[in-house]
Amino acid sequence: MSDCVFCGIVAGDVPATIVAATDRVLAFRDISPAAPTHVVVIPRAHHADLAALSAADPELAAQVLAVAAEVAAAEGVGAGWRLVFNSGADAGQTVFHVHGHVLGGGALPTFG
Ligand code: 5GP
Ligand code: ZN
Repeated sequence: MSDCVFCGIVAGDVPATIVAATDRVLAFRDISPAAPTHVVVIPRAHHADLAALSAADPELAAQVLAVAAEVAAAEGVGAGWRLVFNSGADAGQTVFHVHGHVLGGGALPTFG
C-alpha cells in the first residue's frame, strides 16, 4: 500500500533496523522505543489490524507470533516481555498495518 510506512519498510524505501526476517514476516526496532527492548513485528503483506489479518490469513498471524517469541529470546528478554497489538484508534493504533510490539528489558508496568 503506497501510503503505508510499514509497507515502505518492507519495500526497503523507508530505513529501519531489521532484527529478524522470514519470507513472510519482518521485525525491526521501533523508532520511538517505549522500553529498553522495543521491536515491531509485522507481516510483509498489508493488513490493517489484527482482526483483518486473523480473518484473512490465520497461518500468517501465527507466523507473526512465532517471530515475536523468537525476537524476545534473541533480545535476551525471555524472563519478562510483552506482545501488544494496539487495534483501532481508541487503543492508540497509529499505523494501520498490523504490528505487534515486543516490549521488554526491564520491569514492565502491570495492568489488568
Ligand atoms: P501503534 O501506535 O500503531 O501501535 O504503533 C506504531 C509504532 O510504529 C509506534 O511505536 C511508532 O514509534 C512506530 N513507528 C512509526 N513510524 C515508524 C518508522 O518509520 N520506523 C520505525 N522503525 N517505527 C515507526
Ligand atoms: Zn502496509
